[in-house]
Amino acid sequence: SKATLFDKEKNVKVSFNDVAGLDEAKVEIQEIVEFLKNPKKYTELGAKIPKGALLVGPPGTGKTLLAKAVAGEAQVPFFSLSGSDFVEMFVGVGASRVRDLFKQAKEKAPAIIFIDEIDAIGRARGKGAAQGSNDERENTLNQLLTEMDGFGSNSGIIILAATNRAEILDRALLRPGRFDRQISVDLPELNERKQIFKVHVKPLKIDNTVDIEFLSKQTPGFSGADIANICNEAALIAARKDKKAIDQQDFLDAIDRVIGGLEKKNKIIT
Ligand code: ATP
Repeated sequence: SKATLFDKEKNVKVSFNDVAGLDEAKVEIQEIVEFLKNPKKYTELGAKIPKGALLVGPPGTGKTLLAKAVAGEAQVPFFSLSGSDFVEMFVGVGASRVRDLFKQAKEKAPAIIFIDEIDAIGRARGKGAAQGSNDERENTLNQLLTEMDGFGSNSGIIILAATNRAEILDRALLRPGRFDRQISVDLPELNERKQIFKVHVKPLKIDNTVDIEFLSKQTPGFSGADIANICNEAALIAARKDKKAIDQQDFLDAIDRVIGGLEKKNKIIT
């Protein structure tokens, strides 16, 4: 809701097991779990722990899920906000929200701060839509930069941010000591889609006609979010037909429905 300043989760239950595929991203992000769990290992050698990393990839590929899994694996609180919440905000609200977020996170350190859709605030300054509304976005971005510079690199706060367009971000965000690491979170390959299907059929009652290999081959270009959507849609279709278990045809019908939905969405965009 509009009233909440940002989201805060104390006991994050998500683990790396919930994130299917993305093996390279997981290896890279595993180090951040280590930073949070065992900072001494680094600081005793004189190393500065990175303050932030950028998760870059198309929508629905698991960036939020991965950021949450870091918090879950390291057993630290997860503070999050979305850049899109800052669009059309009253003057001063964005900056003060960012300030409050960092203040609370620092009190609870070690902690993860996650900023989804950072491009909505982090677009290069001086470019973009109507003037005026832009000023507030710039204030928010400046506050974010100030906060990132304001805490020591070994303070136990790590900021993860997600974007699907790293190239439009203000260069200042990508400077050393800020988001100087980028982790790509790409659309899943065949094998990864299989693993994502497996994660999402686990809670479902399926019968032995369901062929995950075949379903994975039918879904090139689909994101993890699309696959999660297909699995739930298949369950709804089976329930509508009063079935006792979900079968292959329900999944195929669900794929058609999800493709239909995606086509509609693309029509609106273009
Ligand atoms: P956006 O850029 O649209 O915010 P995102 O990359 O942050 O998307 P998530 O919100 O993490 O994507 O993914 C949405 C949902 O899709 C997840 O909660 C999960 O159910 C499913 N999902 C996406 N990727 C994966 C994955 N790699 N493994 C398992 N589930 C996934």
